[in-house]
Amino acid sequence: MEIIVMEMKRTIEYRVGTNCYVDGCENQAEFEVYLYDYYENMNYEFFEQDFTCPFICKRHMKENEVRSQGEKKPRGIVDYPYTNRHGAQGYTKYFPISEVFPLLYASESKIFVPEFPILVSEVNDELLKFVAKNPSYLRKIEPRLFEEVVAEIFRRKGYEVHVTQRTRDGGLDIYAIKHEIAGAMHFVIECKRYAESRKVGIEKVQRLNGIIDPNRGHRGVLVTTSSFSSDAIKFAQPLEHRISLRDFSDLQNWLAEYNT
Ligand SMILES: [Zn+2]
Repeated sequence: MEIIVMEMKRTIEYRVGTNCYVDGCENQAEFEVYLYDYYENMNYEFFEQDFTCPFICKRHMKENEVRSQGEKKPRGIVDYPYTNRHGAQGYTKYFPISEVFPLLYASESKIFVPEFPILVSEVNDELLKFVAKNPSYLRKIEPRLFEEVVAEIFRRKGYEVHVTQRTRDGGLDIYAIKHEIAGAMHFVIECKRYAESRKVGIEKVQRLNGIIDPNRGHRGVLVTTSSFSSDAIKFAQPLEHRISLRDFSDLQNWLAEYNT
């Protein structure tokens, strides 16, 4: 599976009440507008907020699409009446504000964001509610934020949770301790924020199995926004007292209680 690097640049923040940027339009903005391009040889996706028209209403979005001229393919140049007025390579993409932005727009929007456009700095009630209602959004957030969501779920279930440093070499994302009357149970938790089509393979489960003991854990938990390959499931079956595989449907169940 190839890794696609995404880059996202945003310079103008959305605020509630922001209008469409088309001259003379007084409609509320309904989409944030991005210039999109894809560099095949580098596996590199590029989003840059369209500073010539960062926000647009639905009517003008439709007009913009209907009246666009050119081929919407990577490295192409497409002429639009309202967006990409500086004629840059790439084409226009729209992100609906109504779905994500009012809730999730963070103040740190001027920074370079790897992986995905929307940057949220902390996991709070609002975010948990949002992903409970829109679980597939978990596949779009930064992997680090996904780890934080999983950590928060465990925390709220009464675990003592430690999120590990950003370095990946130890292969440990979350260390959780459940204090029981008979003693403490230690969990090594790894998170894989994958697209739906990308199953977690056996090698990830074997790797988890290999890091439980060095980290003085009792159990390993692999949590993914995707699902597990059949050989991964087969590998974990005889280890059911040691390894738990938790997939997207488990995540949905965990989050259900926040869907209020
Ligand atoms: Zn408009």
